[in-house]
Amino acid sequence: MGGSSTSPCDLDREFAPQIAQLLATPPLQSGQEYYDGLIQSKKHDGIRVNFSSKHGKGVCANKYFAEGDLILKDQILVGAQHSLNKIDCAVCSYCFRFIGSIEFQIGRRLYWQSIGSSSDRTNRRHCHESDVGSSASSSGATKENSNTLSEEVLVSLITGDMSLPFTDHFGLPQVVACRGCEEERYCSQSCADSDWETYHSLLCTGSKSEPSWRSALQKFVEHANGSNDIFLVAAKAITFTLLRYKKLKTHPEFQKNTDQSNFCLLMEAWKPLSMGFKKRWWDSVALPEDVDSCDEDSFRQQIRDLAFTSLQLLKHVIFDSECAPLFSLEVYGHIIGMFELNNLGLVVASPVEDYFIHIDDLPDDEKEEAEKVTGPFLDALGEDYAVPCEGTAFFPLQSCMNHSCCPNAKAYKRDEDIDGHAVIIALKPIRKDDEITISYIDEDVPYEERQAQLADYGFIWVGAVMEVLVCWIVALGVYGSTALG
Ligand SMILES: [Zn+2]
Ligand SMILES: [Zn+2]
Repeated sequence: MGGSSTSPCDLDREFAPQIAQLLATPPLQSGQEYYDGLIQSKKHDGIRVNFSSKHGKGVCANKYFAEGDLILKDQILVGAQHSLNKIDCAVCSYCFRFIGSIEFQIGRRLYWQSIGSSSDRTNRRHCHESDVGSSASSSGATKENSNTLSEEVLVSLITGDMSLPFTDHFGLPQVVACRGCEEERYCSQSCADSDWETYHSLLCTGSKSEPSWRSALQKFVEHANGSNDIFLVAAKAITFTLLRYKKLKTHPEFQKNTDQSNFCLLMEAWKPLSMGFKKRWWDSVALPEDVDSCDEDSFRQQIRDLAFTSLQLLKHVIFDSECAPLFSLEVYGHIIGMFELNNLGLVVASPVEDYFIHIDDLPDDEKEEAEKVTGPFLDALGEDYAVPCEGTAFFPLQSCMNHSCCPNAKAYKRDEDIDGHAVIIALKPIRKDDEITISYIDEDVPYEERQAQLADYGFIWVGAVMEVLVCWIVALGVYGSTALG
């Protein structure tokens, strides 16, 4: 759709030339410089990013990799844990490591589950963690057996008054709270500081005391949690750019060079993101099966209007007139599309899984003894005891890797990879100068099905798309009569 109906956003018209510049493909030289700099600063000597006018971006080996070698650990540029997953896993808001203790993880999850099963979703909205989401479809939230453990026991696990056997083998970093709010938690002060500088200082409920600002932020977050939490990641992308802009502006280089316009600075601040996007969200999404093709235009318009509602709410929170083009629907749509089209899902395995495997592997007598204590907790957690941390993220280098049905590398987390980085491992020997390719889809799916998936999604990361489809179904149900009407 896109072009076939007028944008509801005034900024799209007012700043059309600036928006076109923000969304133009970066010149090859500027792009090459960006990636060379990024690779150098992260010390990823083994790879390089190549541009070609024919094939776009690609990643090549700068040296030989044997099968199983680590090629790259790619740090997230912008990412977030899914709202509903926050019930299951307490992780650092910056690096996505699990935090606290095994007891804290188990106690907290069972506590939220018991609230979820004993009350309706309205009550869950009132609970202290404002970001737990509004749908009752969390993996374990409706487990009936979660009430067999008393609230007192669960609280003493959370507070550390009760400990489980052998958890000292599974030490997790202590929880460091955000300096402003209680909602964001970190594995270390350095993660807290980095998050503050990079994204969070503009979205922290503790940073400003005005009730109207807080309520605006709450409205934006609630809308995202009730429709599609990709909007929360998009908001982080915008705060990332705004904070970079502010930092550049106070840089002595800029203060000297007064010829440089604010817009030039915005272009510079936006550069890391400008490398990632491809298409507007509402233009690039596949039509869900239950939507008739003759309703496609109205479906795409509904998706666009949903994004516009979210953007309007976000503008009440962080609008900055110096960076106005950044708040256009056109740019917002591309940012959201970027997360849908490029990302490798954020996944971090749960140490709770390792813990219960460890208990299971103990010698019989020790195991029997330990299970007297741990058994009821495992039963209460149920089959989903090992739910990993899951979210959406944009990985600047991984996203440059091209797809192959016969890839020579894959995204794979080893035991030691306990944070949100994307980890790329060689699947076979890779010679210097070979292109490094990964598969975007599940290798185990039969060939015809894989072809069909690729045809449907135009080489999109299918998992992420399926997830969004589910979100839309919720969104269309919840907002069908208001935002979309
Ligand atoms: Zn961390
Ligand atoms: Zn905060």
